[in-house]
Amino acid sequence: MFNKILIANRGEIACRIIKTARSMGVVSVAVYSDADRHALHVQMADESVYIGPSPSTESYLVADRIIQAALETGAEAIHPGYGFLSENAEFCRLCEANNLIFIGPPVESIVAMGSKSAAKTIMADAGVPLVPGYHGEDQSAEVIRQAANQMGYPVLLKAAAGGGGKGMRAVYAEEEFDQALEAAKREARNSFNDDIMLVEKYLLKPRHVEIQVFCDSHGNAVYLFERDCSVQRRHQKVIEEAPAPGMSEALRQQMGEAAIKAALAINYQGAGTVEFLLDSQGEFFFMEMNTRLQVEHPVTEMISGQDLVEWQLRVASGEPLPCSQDQLQIKGHAFEARIYAEDPEHDFLPATGSLKILQPPAESAHVRVDTGVVEGDEVSIYYDPMIAKLMVWDTDRERALQRLTGALSEYRIGGLTTNIGFLYNLATSAAFQNGDVDTGYIEEHEAEIFRRRDSDIDYAAPLAAAAIIELREQQAQAVAHNSTEPNSPWHLSNSWGLPQPQLQIQIQQNEVNVAAESHSDLSHSKIATTAKGFDLFTPQGFFRCAEVTPDLGLALDDSSDGSLHAPMNGTLVSLQVEVGAQVSKGDSLLVMEAMKMEHCIEAPSDGTVTEFYFQAGDLVTGGAELLAFESSAE
Ligand code: ADP
Repeated sequence: MFNKILIANRGEIACRIIKTARSMGVVSVAVYSDADRHALHVQMADESVYIGPSPSTESYLVADRIIQAALETGAEAIHPGYGFLSENAEFCRLCEANNLIFIGPPVESIVAMGSKSAAKTIMADAGVPLVPGYHGEDQSAEVIRQAANQMGYPVLLKAAAGGGGKGMRAVYAEEEFDQALEAAKREARNSFNDDIMLVEKYLLKPRHVEIQVFCDSHGNAVYLFERDCSVQRRHQKVIEEAPAPGMSEALRQQMGEAAIKAALAINYQGAGTVEFLLDSQGEFFFMEMNTRLQVEHPVTEMISGQDLVEWQLRVASGEPLPCSQDQLQIKGHAFEARIYAEDPEHDFLPATGSLKILQPPAESAHVRVDTGVVEGDEVSIYYDPMIAKLMVWDTDRERALQRLTGALSEYRIGGLTTNIGFLYNLATSAAFQNGDVDTGYIEEHEAEIFRRRDSDIDYAAPLAAAAIIELREQQAQAVAHNSTEPNSPWHLSNSWGLPQPQLQIQIQQNEVNVAAESHSDLSHSKIATTAKGFDLFTPQGFFRCAEVTPDLGLALDDSSDGSLHAPMNGTLVSLQVEVGAQVSKGDSLLVMEAMKMEHCIEAPSDGTVTEFYFQAGDLVTGGAELLAFESSAE
């Protein structure tokens, strides 16, 4: 076993690796940028090395600098975590050239899977089933469009170098094809510096089921069962679970063996994930193989009782796998929810800011929180806005799900917008409770998840009113308790003698009037007060509420309609119209990019742009006015 390893990453994954290294008696070296000088992973590691300015292109992605840090500190091996350099063949080669062990697969395996197109060719040869599509070398728009036309729409364009859902576009008709190809290529160029595309049949409502595999240098290979990662937004995973609901033992074995076949076809070593799309008939198709530890690996750890980072360190140091296939067993059920600084109500725009309040639920045998931040830290524009991963485990799915909703309702984050309410609504939605998931889940259940139905408001309004009475009561008691006359009737909160007032309440974006009465469901709900009101976690979902009081500034949503202001810090990618040209409501006016994701700013009504205040390539601060718009609508 190694004496010392360097972790070429940051955030929760760096912290998670350090924990296992410590438990194995391995010394850990962290690296950090300017923004991460005081970060948790730096505090947790035994040693740390400064590697450069905040942008990852000047620090976490600078291979030479990381190699140098490992050599300086005498680390024998480098764990790349996920993202950053974890699937970078050049970095892997550099490690080898400097006698450092890369904790991951051999460089040839990374190269083989690095391109989705090349990977598909290898898998087809190995007899692994593929999604029908074109992954050829001829990259002319004509040829790709022809392939799409032949397959029939809808099709999915994908960047060969892609990851994280970037450079991916669904196309529903030939008319949209050219524009979609151009946008996907641009996103791919920005993210991966490579715009080679492939096109696949866009399967309707498949499930995303992936298999965790592990191989050692002695020829052993096992699969640690599956994870269902169907619940996605913009092709990015939101809630993952293991095992997959409704999975039969026969299908599990079939997929597990196909995954091992895929791994062996590229002489794999270490931890890897083979991703499949599974259709409603139980047919499955290879999508890609990720040659690293996945974000969602903890659900596999929870149901298998294994520490995958420990396995990685053992395999990389030349030991055989700790277990054989027949020693591995599934125990219970686990979920992971990714807690993000983002605004689900506004197209999941990444949020930045200070974590003024950060109180995760208590950890136990059932609840695990992997994070790289503490209260007071910043979620900056430089890195992924994930705050934490919340994992829960219990003996069966129903109980585990109850743990999940319970833990989500106890998670307190203040200071910036998060997706916790959205995750709670997802986890309490009826079809999810039944395990009836597919990759279109969020779009299909939008009304329920975003609580945009009248019935939700009818349900939430009396509850919110009851919550306001409860909160007033608590405040009144606190004031009375601290006063010199605790028994004075002036401390009563029930408006003694006066008729019960009507309350005006804002729930999500709606304002309603409701009589103030108690409500029995309040005893099954949790209330979290926020700066602007309170959050209500009820048996039927999450509701953001506030009492509407004149001029007290309690109104909930102070964000603008987002139309002509920059919705986040980012770069202006392109102007889509000429100044003075007539545009229609909904037309794209300009494209911004943040966190490598493009966001389109649309015309709020028919009219003309009279001036753009920024040009392509400019860095824009969130909230800045982007353009002057003259509406021609009534
Ligand atoms: P990335 O590497 O960018 O994450 P993937 O190839 O893993 O991209 O795909 C991400 C997600 O996109 C999948 O989990 C699935 O939901 C969806 N997807 C990918 N390919 C298809 C397809 N051919 N049909 C339908 N959905 C797909």
